[in-house]
Amino acid sequence: MSATDRYSVLFEPVPIGPVTARNRFYQVPHCNGMGHVRPQAEAAMRGIKAEGGWAVVSNQETEIHPTSDLAPYAEGRLWDDRDVPALRLMTEAVHDKGALAAVELAHNGSHALNHMSRAPIFAPSDAAVENGIPRQARAMDKQDIRDLRRWHRAAALRARDAGFDIIYVYAGHNMTIAQHFLLPHMNHRSDEYGGSLENRVRLTRELLEDTREAVGDTCAVAFRFAVDEMLGADGMQATEEGRAVVEMLADLPDLWDVNVAGWPNDSATTRFQPEDGYQNEYISFVKQVTRKPVVGVGRFTSPDTMVSMIRKGLMDFIGAARPSIADPFLPKKIEEGRVEDIRECIGCNICVSADSLGVPIRCTQNPTMGEEWRRNWHPEIIAPKDSDTGALIVGAGAAGLECALQLAKRGYDVTLADAADAAGGRVLRESRLPGLSAWMRVADHRLYQLGQMSNVRLFLQSNLTAEDVAGLDVRHVFLATGARWRGDGLGRSTHRTPPRIEAGAAVFTADDIMDGRLPPKGPVVVYDDDQIYLAGVIAELLARNGHDVTFVTPASVVSPFTQYTLEQDRVQTRLMELGVTIRCNGVLISQDATAMRVACTYTGRTEEIAATSAVMVTERIRETALYDALKQQGGLQTLELIGDAASPALIADAVHSGHMAARNFERAPQDIEADWYRREITSLNGGRGE
Ligand code: ADP
Ligand code: SF4
Repeated sequence: MSATDRYSVLFEPVPIGPVTARNRFYQVPHCNGMGHVRPQAEAAMRGIKAEGGWAVVSNQETEIHPTSDLAPYAEGRLWDDRDVPALRLMTEAVHDKGALAAVELAHNGSHALNHMSRAPIFAPSDAAVENGIPRQARAMDKQDIRDLRRWHRAAALRARDAGFDIIYVYAGHNMTIAQHFLLPHMNHRSDEYGGSLENRVRLTRELLEDTREAVGDTCAVAFRFAVDEMLGADGMQATEEGRAVVEMLADLPDLWDVNVAGWPNDSATTRFQPEDGYQNEYISFVKQVTRKPVVGVGRFTSPDTMVSMIRKGLMDFIGAARPSIADPFLPKKIEEGRVEDIRECIGCNICVSADSLGVPIRCTQNPTMGEEWRRNWHPEIIAPKDSDTGALIVGAGAAGLECALQLAKRGYDVTLADAADAAGGRVLRESRLPGLSAWMRVADHRLYQLGQMSNVRLFLQSNLTAEDVAGLDVRHVFLATGARWRGDGLGRSTHRTPPRIEAGAAVFTADDIMDGRLPPKGPVVVYDDDQIYLAGVIAELLARNGHDVTFVTPASVVSPFTQYTLEQDRVQTRLMELGVTIRCNGVLISQDATAMRVACTYTGRTEEIAATSAVMVTERIRETALYDALKQQGGLQTLELIGDAASPALIADAVHSGHMAARNFERAPQDIEADWYRREITSLNGGRGE
């Protein structure tokens, strides 16, 4: 059976109310740090998804009113008619490539903190909101509910005017008012909107009916609903009220978009949910209850799994956010029988971290994500070479592999060399740590692609010196030589007072651990002044290996960066469950043969922690020896550091750096400087309806 036949079920058109999707690939709403702040960027990014074959391309949660103000986050916005033109950019871009455009209307209830609008915060019942926010939400009265329905209806009409084909009512992720009314712990009302499930579902039913009545003749009405909070009996369960809600509303929407709540459960990382399709057990009942099409998610990247989802009757559409970010051309590649070319999501949630930080989306696997408009980068197309020259790339980690791949795609002759026995650099080494095996896809994808090309030569076990490079007769050299972890404890908290490593202390670096050099048994401290993710993973490895581990960090939680990837709770819980002792707010002073001395970040009071060995995860030292030697040697036209050797950061940044270097190769420096990237500059027209 040909690939086309095998996967043909995925390419059947499916009607959704009054509109029809051309196939079963459905890009569900996902945040992207662009929204109403950077609408041209979002339009271009969504347009690329449509070009890549998705039948439905959704935007992201779209505020319907100033009482649902999500600032400083850059979400969608439809407060009034002035927001329509910006969203029309997206619908036009999506329609232009033959897909349907969906808008996720949202009133975020007490999830919207209204920092910017200073509007009252709405909830079913009076309640404090998020930690650290000095405001409470107020119970909506009947007039508030009538207003909310009016705003939602008006937003639906505006969405239709903006050209959307599918209009959402949203009760998911514990982030919207419709869901807040459904949840007994948030809804303590005694009127017809509280108490029984029938009452708690009333607002959702009204929003669905209002939306249908307003736009249902031309637009499909989708309902995004979290069937389970993954809290067992402490929350909504798919086996109990989650199912009952679907039964009550069964055929009211034109489409069910179902998932689990909250967002960390829905967008779980591979570190904590290694399997694709991890939501199936929760959502599988939905299709038995409704006659309307169902879309579900679960980080699907394998077309065989997708086919089995459809054949088993679990869903009608293959929903995807992250797989569509990692590879906007996933449907096209399946359709064209190029399954091996799919850039599979690694489930790292760096995409989510950008939204959490209020900046445009990025992706570890897809360096063009978020760059479609401002840098005019296309995920599948790159300019052909400008000359017949070749390039040498030293270092086959994330940066070197991406740079090599893109230069090779441009048509240059590429030589890629690495000192190690296997390619992959830090990706290879980090992917051996607990829960991170999927990260190897970053290297695997690129190695496979490079292996298909005749203009690429890869040399392993080739630790190059400046003399070696001189002997290679190349004019253009990119150094992707990475960075190594330091062992002296110097890091962001200790630059003022460098720590002392006493004679006899057994100190290990993160590189030692990744290379399999583990401390002897006995009490070991993992000292984390990096505060990103690696120290937490190393502590997990050592604890699983039977070590007696204490985790010390100047931060006030374990791995604080992982808050942005929605993992921090899980990281800390896992370490605690593995018996790791956690000491926050402690700065390293010294390590000797038996103990680590740390000072409290607040009081400076010191204490000693028994430790016959220590693993330092603090800072990295860039590997620039070859660069320095080549610079001194001279004679090269291009000598450029890329990736961690240029600036130690995330794997996503290394890939991006390698990609950028390949795009900019043979461009005049003044052009690069002048065209750093396009910006969406705020209008100075007074904002009064012009
Ligand atoms: P990045 O994240 O920037 O891609 P990595 O640390 O993943 O960096 O990869 C750096 C790679 O460079 C490693 O695989 C390492 O073996 C290789 N390397 C470093 N110095 C040399 C050298 N002089 N010759 C060849 N390979 C080198
Ligand atoms: Fe997947 Fe990571 Fe890319 Fe997000 S950033 S789409 S999780 S590979």
